Amino acid sequence: MTYSNLKIAIDGPASSGKSTVAKLLAEEFNLVYVDTGAMYRSLTYAALETETPVDDEEKLIELLDQIEITFERVLEGQLVYLNNQEVTDKIRGNNVTNNVSVVSSFGKIREELVNQQREIAKDSGVVMDGRDIGTVVLPEADVKIFLVASVDERAQRRHLENIEKGFDSNLEKIKEEIQARDEFDSNRKISPLKQAKDAVLLDTTSLSIAEVVKECKKIVKTAMK
Ligand code: C5P
Repeated sequence: MTYSNLKIAIDGPASSGKSTVAKLLAEEFNLVYVDTGAMYRSLTYAALETETPVDDEEKLIELLDQIEITFERVLEGQLVYLNNQEVTDKIRGNNVTNNVSVVSSFGKIREELVNQQREIAKDSGVVMDGRDIGTVVLPEADVKIFLVASVDERAQRRHLENIEKGFDSNLEKIKEEIQARDEFDSNRKISPLKQAKDAVLLDTTSLSIAEVVKECKKIVKTAMK
């Protein structure tokens, strides 16, 4: 097995550092980075823009049929497109963040997006991050990592990210929202946020990004021996 066909699954709760680490690992091993959260977020953004009720599964499926979500790798990371319109930052807004868990809880939505995710991974090596990658999307992944961090630290990270992006931000409110989203994602019936039995648990609390990436590289190299 060569690195070029490697499948790395990274799961964990909100703001546990998944996307930052996944992007860096993809660069390191020259793999395609797939941000599955961005797919659920893009659909949620489309629903809010078109005033489609976020709790109406049938209407959401109709909407999903009409949209195409694509990614573009650029020097600074990755751009997300919804029907060829760039939405990279728009899908990180509070309104999307606070509605995405409801949208992602529907079985038919997950079925369609999981198919798209598997299609991307079919012909290339990937680092895919999300909630159900190791358990459902890529159960045969070569490497599975489950990232966790304390709620305080995750809230602080999201707070700083918001400030950098110029969004309004309130630390206490973020903490409550993160907890609510994790609870919803962990307790939904279909593909809840859960550590796969064969995933390596990595607590990133008080670790720097560089330290987390170093640990992840060790996990990948051990798995490839
Ligand atoms: O990772 P991110 O915070 O961008 O994910 C946004 C939301 O999308 C999560 O809170 C979850 O509801 C949903 N999601 C999911 N399954 C995935 C990735 C994300 O249900 N594989």
